[in-house]
Parts: sequence; C-alpha cells; structure tokens
Amino acid sequence: MKHLEPLRERAASYEQFVHTFAQPMSQLPRESIVGNEFALQALWNEQAFEGVALTLVDGTPVKVIEPGRWNHAVGPDFRDAILVIGGELRRGDIECHVSPSDWDAHGHRSDPEYGGLILHLTWYAAPKAKTLSVHVPHLALEQLLPFYPVEIIEKNVKKKEFAGIEHPCLVRFRNEPLALNRMLASAGYYRLLAKTNRFIENLQADNAMQIFYESLMSAMGYSRNAGSFRRLAREVTLTVLEPYPTKTRFAILARVAGLLKETHRELWDLWWQSGCLPPLQPYVWDYRGLRPQNHPFKRLAGGLGILHHLEQLMDVPLQELPEAISHAADFLRKEIGTSTALVGKKRAASVTLNLFVPYRLALGLLSKNQLNALPGEDVSMPMRDTWLRLTGQSSGIPKDGLRQQGLLQIYTDFCHNQQIICETCPIANGI
Ligand code: SF4
Repeated sequence: MKHLEPLRERAASYEQFVHTFAQPMSQLPRESIVGNEFALQALWNEQAFEGVALTLVDGTPVKVIEPGRWNHAVGPDFRDAILVIGGELRRGDIECHVSPSDWDAHGHRSDPEYGGLILHLTWYAAPKAKTLSVHVPHLALEQLLPFYPVEIIEKNVKKKEFAGIEHPCLVRFRNEPLALNRMLASAGYYRLLAKTNRFIENLQADNAMQIFYESLMSAMGYSRNAGSFRRLAREVTLTVLEPYPTKTRFAILARVAGLLKETHRELWDLWWQSGCLPPLQPYVWDYRGLRPQNHPFKRLAGGLGILHHLEQLMDVPLQELPEAISHAADFLRKEIGTSTALVGKKRAASVTLNLFVPYRLALGLLSKNQLNALPGEDVSMPMRDTWLRLTGQSSGIPKDGLRQQGLLQIYTDFCHNQQIICETCPIANGI
C-alpha cells in the first residue's frame, strides 16, 4: 500500500516508543502473596491466568469474554464485563475483595451501584459474605492460581503512587509544546494506520465491507452495548441482509436482537416474512443510565440509515461528514416514531474518525493533508486524563481529531497500560 507511506513516516516517531518496552513477567511462588485488593484488581485487569481453568467456588466453569473496564471511581471495580458462566452469557459488573466477607464490611449491600454484579471476585474463598445474594457467582483465585505474578502487582502499585503528582512526561514537555504537538500527531497517525490495516487485511478477501458494517454496529452500541451490536452484525451478516430493503433489514435485526415488539405491527410482519429466526442464546442489552434517545432499538435504526446512504457518504468531504452521517441516520426515524435525531453530531464525528477515515485511507481516497483537519469528537475521560498527565492542565484539550486520536493511543499504550511505570516510560524519557 504505497499511498500509506507518508502516514507511516509520520507515525514512525511514535512507533519507536511503543517498541521500546519489553513485557517480561516472572511468576513467583505464592509465598510472595501481597493479598491486597488493588493487586487482585490488577491481576483481573491483566487476565494473568494463562493455563488456568477458571471456575466458581462451586466448580462451575467461567470463561472471560471481556474482563470489563477497570473503574477507579465509585461503584464496582470493573464495569461492562462479559463472561460465560456455566454456559450462560452474562454481562455486567465485577466487584473484587481479598476476603468474601469484605463485602459485608464495606457495606455494599444497600448501594444501588452494585445492582448489576455478575461476579464477586475474591482472593480467599472464605469467610463467606453474609449480605451478598447467593445468586451472585463467586470466584476465588486462591484455589486456582499456582503462582502469583508479583511484577504485575509491583508495577500497578508504583503507577498508582504517581496519581496526583507531576508525571515525568509533564516535566519533559513543559517547555516544549511543539514537541508535544508533534508527538500527539504522530500517535494519531499511528492509531489511524492501525485501524486502516484492519480494512486492508480484509480488502483482498472481499470482506472489508462486512468489517465496516460490524464496526458501524459496534459504534452504535457506544461502550455498554458495543459487544452485543457486534455480535448481531456477525450473526446477521451483510450477505444475509443483502436481498432485503433497508426497512426489512431493520425489522430482521431488531427481531433477532430481541428488540422488536409485536406492537410494531408493520416491522413485525416484515420480519415474519423474511423467515430469519432469533438465536437460541438471547442478546443481553444493558439499559443502565441510558437516555431514551440512545436506546439500542433507536441506535440500530440509526446504523441502518447510515448503511443505506453509504455510497453517497463516501464522497462527502471530511469536515462535512459528521453532519451528513447524522442526517443519513434519520432515514428510519419516522418508522420508529421518534422526534429526536437517531445519531447526534458528536457521535457522527466519532463514526467519521473511527470508520470512514480508516476505510477511505485503506482505499487510497484520502491524503495526509486532509488528516490535519479531521473533525474532533466529544472529549472522553481517557483524552482528558492523558492531557492532564502530559500538560498538568484540564483545559486546552485538542479539538482536532488527529491529536485526539493521539491522546487515546498514548492512554492505551502507556498511561493505562499496567505493564508500564511512569519512571521508565519511553514517552517521558524520549525513548
Ligand atoms: S505512563 Fe508515560 S505518558 Fe503516561 S503519565 Fe506516565 S510518564 Fe506520562
């Protein structure tokens, strides 16, 4: 892919940072057990259980599809995990404690934040929690792990100690705003190239459009329902949908996903005539904290609207694309009877950056100059967090998409990577 060479050159300076850290992990005897809750969370976050068959204390097998997002705020320690417990797909939160009875001591029983637990993860198996429902599955690592990966714990604890103080990267970039700017741009190119490569890998297999469709559906799920949307796109593929008009496609997807009610008579009939059956394993949708306009049924309609206009959207200039996407998403708005936009402009900007830009890059339809003026998306927590670490400022977060992508990449590769500690971080040390 010759047309991507200029981008690779620009991503190269960031790439060398990523390649400088090794990830050795020693597995020390369990006599070294530290036994603190933060260490347990770090273990789960790293999923450092290679070769270990996870089971509940009653022997039920547990498979981890997604360990969840490590939550450093109030509430359960991990949000939005996806597990298969005894063959049943479960989606929700995980709370970690050293001993099961810590649940009682911490008084979580009456806290509604803990209403969506799908796992109580503890180090020790006893003493039992008295105030936790017996229906919340309990996994105790003590009986399962033959080792204790101390390096992970030490790195995590050291990283935590840096919270609230000047990070070494801030010291490095304090008087070098241009160097910081260059690094953010390079990290942004790096991230966009990584996304582009997914499409390139599938172009030859003629699969790129299916990948685009899966990613579009996943983007409609935001973070909480992204997994279910992606599953839907994988189970009801573009090939399955191809013979049908957009309205029928929506009816099929909504019914298969368990989102269509019989009261939507017309859509129900369209689905019925298609003969596509819902799966034996129903979809799990997470409605917690969801605003009505973000209901998966509406987002699904929005995704189908974007898909319907894909050809036209491919020709829209980047700066105008978020508005055009938002407009296209409303194609089925009347059918589902809502007055609000199905995909807002900020979400549409995110779809632009994460889907349309990489897809166009893969097809050679974008030049590097156009990337300098990418529309920005909503500032997210990882962007804000990384900017604060790098500059010590909570304001002035870049508004352009390229540098925002750079912040996200640094967050993933370094600031949120539990293998990295700030003292030896290549970003701060200039390699
Ligand atoms: S991991 Fe690196 S970039 Fe992130 S805060 Fe620490 S020193 Fe800064």
